[in-house]
Order: sequence, then C-alpha cells, then structure tokens
Amino acid sequence: MDYRRSYVKDIFSLAPGSEVDAYGWVKTRRDSKGVSFVQLSDGSCFQDLQVVLEAGAFPEETVKQLTTGTSVRFRGEVVESPAAGQAVELKATQLEIYGIADATTYPLQKKGATMEFLREISHLRVRGNTFGAVFRVRSEAAYAVHKFFHERGFRWIHTPIITASDCEGAGAMFAVSTSLEATGHGDDAQWKLKSADPTQDFFGKPAFLTVSGQLEAETMALGLTNVYTFGPTFRAENSNTARHLAEFWMIEPEMAFCSLEGDMKLAEEFLRYVIQHLLDHCGPDLEFFNQRIEPELLKTLEHVATSSFEHMTYTEAVEALAASGEKFEFPCHWGADLQAEHERWLTEVKVGRPVILTDYPKEIKAFYMRLNEDGKTVRAMDVLAPRIGEIIGGSQREERLDILEDRIEEFGLPKEAYWWYLDLRRFGSVPHAGFGLGFERLLMYVTGMKNIRDVIPYHRTPGSAEF
Ligand code: ATP
Ligand code: MN
Repeated sequence: MDYRRSYVKDIFSLAPGSEVDAYGWVKTRRDSKGVSFVQLSDGSCFQDLQVVLEAGAFPEETVKQLTTGTSVRFRGEVVESPAAGQAVELKATQLEIYGIADATTYPLQKKGATMEFLREISHLRVRGNTFGAVFRVRSEAAYAVHKFFHERGFRWIHTPIITASDCEGAGAMFAVSTSLEATGHGDDAQWKLKSADPTQDFFGKPAFLTVSGQLEAETMALGLTNVYTFGPTFRAENSNTARHLAEFWMIEPEMAFCSLEGDMKLAEEFLRYVIQHLLDHCGPDLEFFNQRIEPELLKTLEHVATSSFEHMTYTEAVEALAASGEKFEFPCHWGADLQAEHERWLTEVKVGRPVILTDYPKEIKAFYMRLNEDGKTVRAMDVLAPRIGEIIGGSQREERLDILEDRIEEFGLPKEAYWWYLDLRRFGSVPHAGFGLGFERLLMYVTGMKNIRDVIPYHRTPGSAEF
C-alpha cells in the first residue's frame, strides 16, 4: 500500500467510468431493498463518499459488518449519482475490511453527542464531522501562517521550550525538574523529592516550561530583522475558562526597525490573510461551522477579511465603557485590566468587529513595553475579537537601556537574569516591535467553536492530561 493512493476528495473529481480504490471508515450504512449505501470518510474533505453495494454483490454477512467505524477498502467504478448534493458515487465491485468496530461498544455513533462527551473520546472524535472539520482547518491555518510570513521575508525561528529565566511574568510556570521521582501508578502514584536544592537539579538552577518565546525572538530579530516563532507554550493557568489552555501554540513575530504602527499593520494583515486563505481553501468546512456551530460565521469572516479594524486607545475604551450604562460584573476604571466582559462589549456592542486597543497603563503590562512620553502608558496593543476577546497581545519594545533598567527595577525583577536581554540595548539597539497570537484563539474565531479545548487534538487544562 502506497501513501499516494487516492483520497476520497480526489475521487469526487474523477470522470464517471473511472476505476478506483476508496479507503476510509464507515460513517453510516443504510440498507434498502437489498441495496446498501455506505457513507465513507477518510478525513480528506468534509463530504463523505457514497458507496453503493448492489443487491447480491456481496455476501450479506460481510455487508452487515460494515457498521459505523469499520475501516475498509472499496474498489469500484465512479458513476454519476442520482442523489442530490453529490455529483458522483462509487459502485463497489470489491470490498476488503481491515478492522470492524463493534456496534454495541463503539463510542462514536450517538447522534447529537455533546462536546463534553466527545472530549472524553478525543482519540476518536476526529472521525466525526465537527472534529474532522476542526483539524482540517487547523492544519490549513498553520500552513497559511507560514505562507504569510514566508512571503514577507520573515524567518521562522525556534526558541527554547525549557527556560531558566522565569522572566516574562506572562503567566504561572510549570517547573522542569529531575529532582522529582514518580513512584507507583494511578491513585498510588507519589512524588519523591530527591533533592530540594536547585543547584543539584538537572540545569543547576530552577527551570521551567516557556510561557513565551518573545525575549529570545527579540535577540533573533536583532540580527535577522524579521522573525517569527510558531510553537508550543505553557502556562499553569488555574482559571479553567473556555479560552485558556495550559499547553497552547503561539505565533510570535518580532520586527527590528519597526514601531507600534508597523506592528498593528502586521497584526491586521496577518489576521485578514489567514481568514481569506481559509475562506478560499476550507469552504465546505466553514460552511458546516456556519450551519451548525455559529450562525453568523461566514458573514463575519468575509467582513473581517475585507474591512479594517477599529483603533482606540485604552483610555478611550475605558471612557466608552464608563459611558455605556452597562452593568458589568467587574467595574471598569482607568488603571485596571479589561475583563472578558469589557472586551466583548467593545467588540460586539460598540464596534461590531475586531478592535485594536493601544497605550495601556504601564502597571498592567510587561516591563519590556516602550514607555510613552506621558510616563504613564506604554506602547502596547491588544487585538480584541468579537466572541473571543483578546486574540493578540503585542507592543513596541523598550529599546533605551536606562529606561529598561528602571522598568526592571520597578517590577522588582532580578536585573542579573536579564544580562543578555539588556545586551541587546547595549550593542546596536534599534526600535523593534512584535506580538503574540494564540493559535487556538484564532481557531476558535474562525470555526466558531465555543471552547478552546475543542480546537486542539488533546487539551491540557487543570485536572486534565488524558491521552
Ligand atoms: P489573557 O488575558 O487572555 O489571559 P494574556 O494577556 O495572558 O491573555 P499574552 O501574554 O499577551 O496573553 O499572550 C499572547 C496571546 O497568547 C494572547 O493574546 C492569547 O491569544 C494567547 N494566550 C494567552 N494565554 C493563553 C492560554 N492560556 N491559552 C491559550 N491562548 C492563550
Ligand atoms: Mn493570561
């Protein structure tokens, strides 16, 4: 068997009369007057291939084995389909079953199964309509990300996953240690601490899983000019929301000789590009999301792909929120971080499309963001999207050594740990900017899926690390 066999998606464009093998899993089988109709899927496209097994063509016991989930190869002739909604179907002349799926125990057959239930069978859910579509879109979006940056001369760089600088303050970190030993299994499992002394540990000091590749990306940008990361990121988020994962994928472009204006332009172009790419290449999958998951999806995506984003300063946003007359759970005042409810009001009620907020109070943003003339705000920008809230967080970085040192002190961070980061400002410093975009937040936006756990194959969240 060659990997270059025909996919189901290829069969749809074959001329009637062609002979072909169709491999896949049975979605459903319907018997009618001795004739059987099998809906076959190999995940290559949204549409299933209808395979017709004519009366008497195969032994009845064999046909009975073709229950939902069974893996099979059909050989047959491509014929014009009399049924609506499909141009061709396959008239089977041979069939080979690889593995049956017992109808009494196969979990993925209930119609109308909840997302929560499907999450418990994450290893099987990809065979269904919704998750087939999610993971095709995920793959196509990842390709669009690389294509976008490659076309603009950005270099893909790989920043470390294990880091010894608990620098960034972007989120709570997972420790990486060989000082802990696991004994026992299941409920009897226990940690044994071999040494509490970090100097005795693997790296000779405390180490963690990265919360962001940004600081390292900055070092690469100040040599390669335009770079981006695209890789896994870890945050021990204990919040259990529908938009936070403990392990997620982040895209972080960083540009030398670039201001916040250039950064916002890139963010906007980027989102529009990826969305347009998906509209062009994932039509049937998006159509499905539009019909079954989020009614306004296609309209919104088409709108976002072609219109510019609203720009507002943080201060203007806080004023608008205060004047809104809305009752928020968390009152909003200048100096406080915006809550999801505020972000949603701004994007959904006030503007009706994505909004870029800029110039946040310095206290609620990271130390490395460039201080404005007013001494109170920093050159930060967040892109907020309807339904999702924050989808991108970025800034122009502080390139002035003395100010950056002051900021590190203000935050009570250990200056010594940042020696290499400060070197960038000592030697050939330049204005530079970048942002971080959570890949799964983007996928929630383009699919309409309501829970971030449902746009990654295997979610890691508090209490959950199955599969
Ligand atoms: P939030 O306020 O939503 O927690 P953040 O301010 O912590 O976001 P940043 O540190 O700016 O986010 O990270 C950059 C981007 O990474 C965010 O805009 C978001 O798209 C994504 N992101 C952040 N935390 C998570 C998470 N736990 N799971 C998935 N995506 C995340
Ligand atoms: Mn966060």
